[in-house]
Amino acid sequence: MTAKSLVVASLVLCAAAFAQAPAQTGKIEVQWLGQSATKITTVSGKVIVIDPYLTQNPKTPAQYKDLDALGKVDLILVTHAHGDHLGDGPELAKKNKAQLWGPAGLDQSLVTLGVLPPELAPRMNKGGTITPLGPDIKITMVRAEHSSELVWKNPATGKDETHVGGEPGGFIIEFENGFKLYHMGDTALFADMKFIGEYYKPDLIMIPIGGHFVMNPKDAAYATNQYLKPKFAIPIHYATNPWLKGTPQEYIQALGKTSTKVFPINPGDKLTF
Ligand SMILES: [Zn+2]
Repeated sequence: MTAKSLVVASLVLCAAAFAQAPAQTGKIEVQWLGQSATKITTVSGKVIVIDPYLTQNPKTPAQYKDLDALGKVDLILVTHAHGDHLGDGPELAKKNKAQLWGPAGLDQSLVTLGVLPPELAPRMNKGGTITPLGPDIKITMVRAEHSSELVWKNPATGKDETHVGGEPGGFIIEFENGFKLYHMGDTALFADMKFIGEYYKPDLIMIPIGGHFVMNPKDAAYATNQYLKPKFAIPIHYATNPWLKGTPQEYIQALGKTSTKVFPINPGDKLTF
């Protein structure tokens, strides 16, 4: 083999490897899919889906109501048991053979009821940090001020039953490049957000603003300016049903002069950080 043919061969090999490798942009991509549903592609191309309420979500763009449209999913995180968060989680877990991590009591009930096998529903709890995608991606569950009943239709009776769903949480994900996302789940305003801001120092928050079940825009602005002080914020959990009346415009207005850049994006939009 001549030197020239060696170069050509190695170029072809490189091209083949590149085609098979996941997109590696040096950045993370965050795609909001309505309500709390979020698809994240990490620096090394791992796909994490948080609160996959998709097929029944009136705000999810039509093309993402097909679970195959998400592509390969590596990990599912669920903040609490309510239907607008657990959503399509069990189906997505089985389809991708991907673990669904949520509050310990929720995953325990999913296993006990036979919704998921134990290997797809591992248990964790608030304050714990897990690394199921390798040591470079750290996922910590933190407190949320909310509730977490699991409503499950018993196939034997056809009736709804209410089961233990653990305690609700939020997730702080530290990515390969050190960037930290705090997905807050559903929560009221609570003063320990000050501790979360000081201790974990999130760069980006995904913050509920709809009111009624969660913070309204005024509460969310207080949490952002006084407690969390992130570089970036994406308002979520609004306009999905008639109770969630808060708007991104009200949130931005309530923030006033702030060091946080707000992205009032639409479901389906993607941002890179
Ligand atoms: Zn909710």
